[in-house]
Amino acid sequence: MKPKEKKSVIRRISKYLFEHKTLFATTLILACFMTGLSVFVPTVIQEVLDKIFESDKFQNKFLIQGIVVIGLMFLVKEILNCLRIRANNKLEQKVIFKIRKDLHDKLLDLPINFYDRRKSGEIASRVVEDVQNVERAILDGTEQGVIACLTLGGVTTMMFLQEPRLAFLVFLPLPILVILGFNYAKVSKKNWKAVREASGELNSLLVEDIQGNRLIQAFALKSRERTRFDATGKQLEKRSLEAMYRWSIQGPGANFLSSLGILAVVGMGAFLLKTDPSFTSGKFFAFLLYANMFYEPVRQLVSINNLIAAGKASGERVFEVLDTPLEIVNHYDPHPFPRKINQVEFQKVTFAYDERISIIQDLSFTIPEGSTTALVGPTGAGKSTTANLLLRYYDLTSGSITIGNKSINQIDLTSLRQNIGLVSQDPFLFDATVRENLLLAKPNASDNDIWKSLEMASAKEFVEALPAQENTMLGERGIRLSMGEKQRITLARALLKDPPIIILDEATASVDVETERCIQNALENLVRGRTTLIIAHRLSTIRNADQILFMEGGELKEKGNHQELLSLNGRYSKFCEYQENVIHR
Ligand code: ADP
Repeated sequence: MKPKEKKSVIRRISKYLFEHKTLFATTLILACFMTGLSVFVPTVIQEVLDKIFESDKFQNKFLIQGIVVIGLMFLVKEILNCLRIRANNKLEQKVIFKIRKDLHDKLLDLPINFYDRRKSGEIASRVVEDVQNVERAILDGTEQGVIACLTLGGVTTMMFLQEPRLAFLVFLPLPILVILGFNYAKVSKKNWKAVREASGELNSLLVEDIQGNRLIQAFALKSRERTRFDATGKQLEKRSLEAMYRWSIQGPGANFLSSLGILAVVGMGAFLLKTDPSFTSGKFFAFLLYANMFYEPVRQLVSINNLIAAGKASGERVFEVLDTPLEIVNHYDPHPFPRKINQVEFQKVTFAYDERISIIQDLSFTIPEGSTTALVGPTGAGKSTTANLLLRYYDLTSGSITIGNKSINQIDLTSLRQNIGLVSQDPFLFDATVRENLLLAKPNASDNDIWKSLEMASAKEFVEALPAQENTMLGERGIRLSMGEKQRITLARALLKDPPIIILDEATASVDVETERCIQNALENLVRGRTTLIIAHRLSTIRNADQILFMEGGELKEKGNHQELLSLNGRYSKFCEYQENVIHR
């Protein structure tokens, strides 16, 4: 990692802290007061001890006074500490929320191809765990760092004021400690990054196993998943241990070096106690306390290095998402969706997900306003890709797509998608009530609108029979609908949205005759009068389409209506023959 990038991660992280200046300043000020008090405690102890042992007679009065004063100092220090912890917690939660919010906003804005390349569990791990790590590094790192530096400064001053001869000894192990600390920080960031990556992998495996649970049961994949978990879990274990082992040498190593410093102070202090009458036992005791207090912040600064290294590794993962360019960008002066559509036109469209493999080649066709075009062809022909291009999920390599003579690149992206109704094969319903799921399409729809759309989607009957009708919860926390029912709810949602253009990815799964009839009715109601592009599988839909495009290998092979294409006696007629055989077998 280049130093420039390192700096920028820290600087960018700090930006979040400075958004809450007052809270940040409060924690630092409280930390300063608290540290100041702790630094004075040994000197007060020394005063008390020296007073007690001043004459040969034991000074009871000084002992009691001393204990009260020192006790009060401890009490005030901990009250300040309590306030500091609270301010710190508040700041921490605010910063976490802001970073997560920025990430979530970005995730909503990112183009589809960002998700093509990533696993959902891995993305979630960045939002949940990495943000926590980043926050810990900035907040704890800054706060502990400030406390450690203040303590170090205060204690050093007090030690030199008290006894420079001993203070010098305390400093002896310091250069080695600093060199070890910096060296450790360098290596440990790499280690922590590996840990974060392994943790992201484990998360994505868990999400897959939870989401794909039915498939795992159905295909008896449990032992495969166990093996996969073992491998991924072990990888995380290995990476974590590598990072931790490094600390297990660094931590105790630093402790041992500081103990040597204390030992030197004990030896030299004992010598001074014997030979120098001005060096009192109170001074000796206070000095030992200072020496001990000196190494604590040094150790802390070294461990903050570890914290910052882990935080930087996570920070890079967070900023990688935040810095992902929005490949699909609105035109600098986007037009609203054209009021008059007249037609949708693909002109010499070429497209590749990855530059090396072209998926759509030179595709040209027109869908006249209000008519239905069916895309037909074998799997992998490029039908879904064609639909994705109309929604501008991806940008074209060359050619153009126009709606009402306006290129979709010039139309405001939100307005484009608001005016195209998408009914996909996999009917996606949110974990909410029927009504809420429908209102997504038209938030201000009346009860009347809702029931009308349900009726047109042949869904009225079964929704009326649900325990709380349209207020019944669907999804994970609610009632389970059959595939055919879910499809009809999504059709009702599209009807309520009432868009001028419809893209329909017809489900391949076969349903019973009655459901098939209901869905067919709903579909007819949906496409009537709208400019429609259907990825068609059912022969009945295909036959009724005004225009059929037969695609293969990303190219348009045949174009016409059912009769025209049959009389060509080409690919389409073979396709129909095959479909009929399958159905009648
Ligand atoms: P169809 O809908 O006709 O079955 P698709 O449009 O889904 O075909 O796929 C056409 C080709 O594009 C296939 O070879 C498929 O593997 C590839 N493809 C589809 N989606 C992606 C994607 N997100 N990234 C890369 N390749 C893809």
